[in-house]
Amino acid sequence: QQARFTGRTIIVTGAGSGIGKATALRLLGEGARVIAADISAERLAAMQLENGSERLVGVAGDVSLQADVDALVLAAGPTVDGLVNNAGIMDAFLPTAEITDEVWERVFRVNVTSQMRLMRAVLPGMVSAGFGRIVNIASEAGIRAGASGTTYSASKHAVIGLTKSTALFYGPKGVRCNAVAPGAVKTNIEAPFLSAWAAERLGPIMQTTIPAPAEPEDLAASICWLLSEDSPNVNGAVLMSDGGWSTI
Ligand code: NAD
Repeated sequence: QQARFTGRTIIVTGAGSGIGKATALRLLGEGARVIAADISAERLAAMQLENGSERLVGVAGDVSLQADVDALVLAAGPTVDGLVNNAGIMDAFLPTAEITDEVWERVFRVNVTSQMRLMRAVLPGMVSAGFGRIVNIASEAGIRAGASGTTYSASKHAVIGLTKSTALFYGPKGVRCNAVAPGAVKTNIEAPFLSAWAAERLGPIMQTTIPAPAEPEDLAASICWLLSEDSPNVNGAVLMSDGGWSTI
């Protein structure tokens, strides 16, 4: 494996499971100091046990809370070179008329507000350093309706807007900000788009068009490419990492 991130400090949220864990471990393997954030202290502890390294710093907390974001950025130290805004939750596949305020607010807090707050916290340092690499995790649901319920779709469309606008404002200051949009991936996330219940609601429209679920490591490869210097001219892009689902 290459070592593209030696000497870099990179924050990964939702690092205790799935795509975030695979990304954190790949970055660690490629030399980075990784600040692994997750709401689950147990998952972080298990990860430390399996992959203990002084370059792996676990920080338990809820990234949807400003106080926990502050603690996370403090633990990272004065220089943050990279950020992977990955923590995210689903929305029980609720169509518009069935959305509860609780689901709407929680999904937006975790999927969108947390990404904004983390970027807001690390951007000033990146601007003074003239260097920053940000990858926000969107979803197939960020470009189409058939991958989730309405709230999750709206939240992931918002992630794409957040990404493009950040890229526009901060590209000239040395910060690249891109999104990765996963299709179906084998993780611990609730995956109602693969369930019989979703099939019953949406019929065969999407069920028949989803490529086989990818491994979290496949997503880590896409994310690390955007964090690395192998993608120097890429800013504000939405990289579909979905086995071709978006072509259908
Ligand atoms: P996952 O559930 O396996 O992992 C997500 C991790 O985030 C968990 O460890 C969880 O504890 C943590 N987390 C949740 N809420 C948090 C919070 N408020 N603060 C801190 N940590 C929190 O899920 P995953 O599939 O690896 O999802 C990662 C990202 O990929 C999400 O943004 C998700 O929307 C996106 N995504 C996943 C798929 C898929 O098929 N798995 C498809 C498209 C997009």
